[in-house]
Amino acid sequence: MAILKILTQENPILRQKAKEVGKITKRQRILVKDMLETMYNANGVGLAAPQIGISDRLVVIDVGEGPLILFNPQITRSEGLNKDVEGCLSLPGRNEYIIRAEKVLVSYIDLAGKKVTINGNGLLARALQHEIDHLEGILFIDHLTKEN
Ligand SMILES: [Zn+2]
Repeated sequence: MAILKILTQENPILRQKAKEVGKITKRQRILVKDMLETMYNANGVGLAAPQIGISDRLVVIDVGEGPLILFNPQITRSEGLNKDVEGCLSLPGRNEYIIRAEKVLVSYIDLAGKKVTINGNGLLARALQHEIDHLEGILFIDHLTKEN
């Protein structure tokens, strides 16, 4: 396992739309372990593959309930609004109030290659939306002018 370098705001990879993941290979399983280790080491609750320089649709999240690994995640339903403080490992030291959906339903492919769904509330819902944004090249500060 390895701790990977987290790219910061000015890196153009963070602005690219990430690619769908096809078959989950050994390379991806190693990448997942490294991403989790990198996220925990940085005291983050989520990390998207573009943040470590890989433009794949893969995110890892742990809001204190154990690791979640999501390939090709997609928000299929969202409900309510919630405004809370948010930060990003790619924008160290920056925290802003951001409005997000309060609840989301997300479908994704798990590490075993199975299609599953998860219901997120509160911090998990926020983390899911934040990380899925990364796969579209969106950073949390992009929501500031539009919604605050
Ligand atoms: Zn982020």
